[in-house]
Amino acid sequence: MNVLLLCTACGRPLSEPLRLLPELPARPEYDGRKNSDGSHRAPSTVPRGTYAVDPEPSGAPFVPHPDPEWAGAAVPGVSMSDPDGDGFLMSAGPRDTLVVHREDTVGFLASNPAVEEIGCCGSPGLEGPNRVCPGCGAEVATLFADCSGPFETHFLPDAVRVTPV
Ligand SMILES: [Zn+2]
Repeated sequence: MNVLLLCTACGRPLSEPLRLLPELPARPEYDGRKNSDGSHRAPSTVPRGTYAVDPEPSGAPFVPHPDPEWAGAAVPGVSMSDPDGDGFLMSAGPRDTLVVHREDTVGFLASNPAVEEIGCCGSPGLEGPNRVCPGCGAEVATLFADCSGPFETHFLPDAVRVTPV
C-alpha cells in the first residue's frame, strides 16, 4: 500500500507516494561513485518510493554519552567529541523518525531559514530540522546529505501524518 506523508499542521503533501519497508536497511558504504548532483556521499539508505521507521534517536540535540569510554557515532558514520569533556556525543533526538530517499522529497520541502549549517558536499543535518513545509513553515524533517554521513531525509514523527494514497 502506498502512502503520502502530509504536514500535520496544514495537510500539504510532503513526499512522493511511499511504501513502508519492514525495517531500516543497513546503511550502504560509499561506493566511490558520484551521485546525480555530483557529490561523493554514500548511496541512499532507502530506495526511491519507500520509507522506513528508525527506532533509534535521530539528529539534534546531541548530548554527552554517560559512559566516557563510549566511542560511538552521533550520526551514523560521524563521531562528535564532547567539546566540554573527554567522551563523545550521542543523539538525544526523536525516535521513530520516518526515513525517506531525498529525491522523493524534491519539490515538497523548503530549506529552514532558521538553521545555518556548513557541510562539505551537502547538509550535515547536525543543527536540527533543516527542512520545513513550504505551505506553513513548520519544521518537518532533517536532511542528512554530507559526504561523511548517511544519505537520508528523516521526517519528525509528530510533524507528518501518514495517509493512504
Ligand atoms: Zn504545513
